[in-house]
Amino acid sequence: MTKLAYLHEPGVLYNLKNRYDINEIYTYTGNILIAINPFKNIEDLYDVNVMKRYKGAAVGDLSPHVFAIAEAAYRAMINEEKNNSILVSGESGAGKTETTKMIMQYLAFLGGHNASEGRTVEKQVLESNPVLEAFGNAKTVKNSNSSRFGKFVEIQFDKHGRISGAAIRTYLLERSRVCQISDPERNYHCFYLLCASPPEDKEKYKLGDPKSFHYLNQSNCYELVGINAAQEYLSTKRAMEVVGINQEEQEAIFRVIAAILHLGNINFAKSEEETDSSVLENEESKLHLQITAELLMCDPSALEDALCKRVMITPEEVIKRSLDPLGATVSRDGLAKTLYSRLFDWLVQKINVSIGQDPESKCLIGVLDIYGFESFKNNSFEQFCINFTNEKLQQHFNQHVFKMEQERYTKEGIDWSYLEFVDNQDVLDLIEKKPGGIIALLDEACMFPKSTHETFATKLYQTFKDHKRFIKPKLARSDFTVVHYAGEVQYQSEQFLDKNKDYVVPEHQDMLSTSRCSFVTRLFPPLTEETSKSAKFSSIGSRFKLQLQQLMDTLNLTEPHYIRCVKPNTVLQPAIFDNMNVIQQLRSGGVLEAVRIKIAGFPTHRTFQEFLTRLGILAPEVLRGNIDEKEACKTILEKAGLTGYQIGQTQIFLRAGQMAELDALRARLL
Ligand code: ADP
Ligand code: MG
Repeated sequence: MTKLAYLHEPGVLYNLKNRYDINEIYTYTGNILIAINPFKNIEDLYDVNVMKRYKGAAVGDLSPHVFAIAEAAYRAMINEEKNNSILVSGESGAGKTETTKMIMQYLAFLGGHNASEGRTVEKQVLESNPVLEAFGNAKTVKNSNSSRFGKFVEIQFDKHGRISGAAIRTYLLERSRVCQISDPERNYHCFYLLCASPPEDKEKYKLGDPKSFHYLNQSNCYELVGINAAQEYLSTKRAMEVVGINQEEQEAIFRVIAAILHLGNINFAKSEEETDSSVLENEESKLHLQITAELLMCDPSALEDALCKRVMITPEEVIKRSLDPLGATVSRDGLAKTLYSRLFDWLVQKINVSIGQDPESKCLIGVLDIYGFESFKNNSFEQFCINFTNEKLQQHFNQHVFKMEQERYTKEGIDWSYLEFVDNQDVLDLIEKKPGGIIALLDEACMFPKSTHETFATKLYQTFKDHKRFIKPKLARSDFTVVHYAGEVQYQSEQFLDKNKDYVVPEHQDMLSTSRCSFVTRLFPPLTEETSKSAKFSSIGSRFKLQLQQLMDTLNLTEPHYIRCVKPNTVLQPAIFDNMNVIQQLRSGGVLEAVRIKIAGFPTHRTFQEFLTRLGILAPEVLRGNIDEKEACKTILEKAGLTGYQIGQTQIFLRAGQMAELDALRARLL
């Protein structure tokens, strides 16, 4: 892309489209790799022979490829003993997860052990993907295998460059999906897999037709095209085995999954004896309550109480207050979500323990697969967190591509008319500043019992009246708009308070911690005085902010590589390239900005030594005797007839396309 003579949006688009039409889905623009989802298998694009070709090749020697980026990260790590990272971004369905899997496969190929070595670290790293996908992916309108969590995989290498450990960190699993889905989406894959398990398992978990479960039958979609759920169940179990989850644990996991389904079928009706309280609706609900309790190995009446009653402690006495049917249903769904998210965290933790960390690891490569910028008709707390993530990553990207570049020129004493670049620090301040940012105000609202989303919104309007990045939409009563780097997003504040509260109902906690199943009690360790206090005030937003800061700190210690995945159409079909869609994604990914700055500056730089090694052949006479490297480089450049380049203190800076010219001259001599 940086070799294009004229650079503008239509040119970039035209180039990408033409390449896409001939199955060239990868294109470099400076250090960024653009990957356009082909929505079909391209033959021989990823097989082992291709891996062999990319091994040892420099970026640019072969056609653009995700393997070339993984190769560059690996070589940089080995040669410079420096941590590297590969940041994969893009909107849902753009191909991020598939891309990260290719990266992991290639790294396993480079840093793997002999096939005879059995259950190797890299095999476990690779098999962690299907496990996490079974429990963390679901069909959405954008992607039939959409990851509903963010993921950072840190692959550790020993001094021989072999994979020696790995750590997986996950971010913000979508909890609401467990009990609420809309047609034609689905719940998490694992529920359907379990319903398709062999008869003896179905019997064990008391399961039947997925259509009979409320948490699944809110949508009419039960099956995925081209996927056999029964086979998938077995292969998920095999993958669980590889990552160290034994039979007993698997059984406990599936018991909890089945319990969640039965839990969702427990309904409540108004009690006839007491006003404002609820009872189980009918015999069917009683049966599901029985089964849920059996699967969770807890006492059925304790479960019923935990669902329908709340304990109130007053200075005088402890009273049990009943919930009305609506309250009991909310309580039921809350329990389902808590169970599921604790289960997911347990899985991640377990995989980490079983793969193991290498404390002596010399270097690592981090691979980030995280949700891209989102802007829908309705945007809630999830979109707010996701877009916050993208602001953070965009800042990291800006800092790297733009600031580093500028600093490098300045340090080398090179004249460079600085291009203006968009900094998004002001949006980040708006969101995360402490005190006074949106997250801080949200936490405040959550701790104050009388707050509603309206009081929260009013507070935002007052506080950010004059903020450039904040807009109170006309006519809005509780919506607010943030001017993100990728565009304006209008958020509906209705559920912000509820969704921000990271709080397990003590009645649920108490009931589950008495389970006779050790797996369940481990998910709900009894609260100590201290943890119960901190649990009360922990908020999802603040915890996420902290996690994100830790991620940024980790990334800042690495040499980053960027891959921008692009979704060429919204119908998820091959061979359709929708210009407007693609342009929008290139804009919000900062790709065009980066291209512009690259072209305007000096996209290629080489140290004198590197330059001479590669191009000395163009003027062999200068290499003889005791030479001054800088002078030698100058001679070569003059002899080649180039202009416009710059010579810094230690490096040569070339304009776009000049390296290609030099290479062509070199090729003629070889
Ligand atoms: P994301 O993680 O960005 O939401 P995925 O990686 O899950 O998206 O990709 C969505 C779908 O697109 C995949 O299920 C697959 O069918 C297709 N896909 C993505 N990348 C490729 C690729 N490189 N080759 C072939 N198909 C792909
Ligand atoms: Mg994904």
